[in-house]
Amino acid sequence: MPPRHLDAPVPQAEEVLVSQKRVACDGGGGALGHPLVYLEMGEDDSVECTYCDRRFVLAASAHDDSHYVDPAARPPESH
Ligand SMILES: [Zn+2]
Repeated sequence: MPPRHLDAPVPQAEEVLVSQKRVACDGGGGALGHPLVYLEMGEDDSVECTYCDRRFVLAASAHDDSHYVDPAARPPESH
């Protein structure tokens, strides 16, 4: 296989910033979706979904253990 030197964008794993080490992924729904799976980062600060190759990265601010992080995602209206 020849090495890729083209400028064409190589499909890369999408990075998703999360605030907790346990995340759920369903591929985003739609045609690209997959069964809902739960991923645990364990000792790491990131975990990759084996279905859709998305990488979930723990947001830096979430490292502060003294800060309680609401498990629910922030509603869009709180923006
Ligand atoms: Zn996924």
